[in-house]
Amino acid sequence: MRFDYHMHTPLCRHAVGHPRDYVAQGISVGLQEIGFSDHNPMPVSFDDWRMAPDELPAYVQLVQEAREDFPDFPIRLGLECDFIPGYETHLRHLATCADFDYLIGAVHYIRDDWDVDNPHKRNLWRELPLEEVWKRYFALYTQAASSGLFDFLAHPDLVKKFGDRPSGDLKPYYEECLNAAADCHVALELNTAGLRKDVAEIYPSREFLEMAHARNIPILINSDAHAPAEVGLNFDQALDLARSVGYTQLPVLKNEKNSIPL
Ligand code: ZN
Ligand code: FE
Ligand code: FE
Ligand code: ZN
Repeated sequence: MRFDYHMHTPLCRHAVGHPRDYVAQGISVGLQEIGFSDHNPMPVSFDDWRMAPDELPAYVQLVQEAREDFPDFPIRLGLECDFIPGYETHLRHLATCADFDYLIGAVHYIRDDWDVDNPHKRNLWRELPLEEVWKRYFALYTQAASSGLFDFLAHPDLVKKFGDRPSGDLKPYYEECLNAAADCHVALELNTAGLRKDVAEIYPSREFLEMAHARNIPILINSDAHAPAEVGLNFDQALDLARSVGYTQLPVLKNEKNSIPL
């Protein structure tokens, strides 16, 4: 059984393809289930990579159109929610605005003006030591894990996207957020999109994943597709990685069974 619960729609302005094209691709690569999770709207216009504040109904409608085209294929409705301190109430409100199957928590912003994965913000990386960028990112990821707002968390070490890593032992950066995810029973995502970025590596790193496995944190394998051809992409590599650190199960969202064999 394979599923992919992280994919986008053109409403975020940096993805292409109607959801029905993502579903068709998912079926053709052997997925049994698919879930959309576009970037969440903010209360007011916020940046140029998410749906507008009033576009949530349009998003639900796009997913509904895919469901109408593929009535026998399970299509879930989710949302990739930016965890930004101060917006918790907004996210709680959003959760009630549609019939969501799940919410993904993500950290992109490490400062009001700095989405750390944005190639147009690379100039900001000169303002802080790399160690501080990593510390901020993982401190926020820890808060996201503890917030109780999310079913699982996206791309755990997204901060490595451009290939910059502090020297030395990276475990201390990972420890707190992993302890929080374990304590709060939040699953984590093994996200193959990292393979398509400068870092050319799955999010998270093997070392991070080993630490997650040691804490019995469930993982899901997702593509973070921003185009139909990316649905389910590189899942064999992700499955190999998960198995090689000892994972034998994948959690299932909102099904009778809690997990399935990997
Ligand atoms: Zn995106
Ligand atoms: Fe993201
Ligand atoms: Fe995403
Ligand atoms: Zn993403």
